[in-house]
Amino acid sequence: RPTIGVLALQGDVREHAAALASSGAEPRLVRRASELAGLAGIVIPGGESTTIDKLSRAFELRDPLVAALRGGLPAYGSCAGMILLADRLVDAPPDQQTFGGLDITVRRNAFGRQVDSFETELATPWLPGGSFHAVFIRAPWVESAGPAVQVLATAPDPHGGPDHIVAVRQDGLLATSFHPEVAGDPRLHAYFLELVVAAGPRPGLE
Ligand code: GLN
Repeated sequence: RPTIGVLALQGDVREHAAALASSGAEPRLVRRASELAGLAGIVIPGGESTTIDKLSRAFELRDPLVAALRGGLPAYGSCAGMILLADRLVDAPPDQQTFGGLDITVRRNAFGRQVDSFETELATPWLPGGSFHAVFIRAPWVESAGPAVQVLATAPDPHGGPDHIVAVRQDGLLATSFHPEVAGDPRLHAYFLELVVAAGPRPGLE
């Protein structure tokens, strides 16, 4: 079972740990830098991205985590986690930092300004079954994505405008605007585990 960290500073950490366990991983909560050692991948949970950003700096976890991501540690971010994996933000406080890694521009609270939360069925041909029931809570969307980024899913605009990008992948980095960890459906975490295995040998992979 691959050892997958869950960044455990704030947010729905337990839900991600449970989803990882039911998709065949060994979850490990990560609060300090030493707990990054030996991970095969890491999940950045949903929650409040400004809080996770500040706590990561206060806990001196930010720099080691950024270094691990730059070194190729596979990561999956949901909602606030997507924001934290983005290289660029719009509509964010000027002092908000991200860990980065994904060549995307993310708009915070993009859906949230219009509809605080909603659920919808997304077409996800890359998952077994081909669709996914997605839960959005004050969710961001991906405003634009660089050429190396694969768009995995889009969701309708609340006002009938063009669809918005809500799931992306770039090598071993995966991000979704929605929260598969609250839906009791482990297929998205299982997909992340496939990316972890495809990323090749790492200490936590066995
Ligand atoms: N709006 C939150 C943020 O900007 C994200 C919401 C969530 O993770 N459900 O961090």
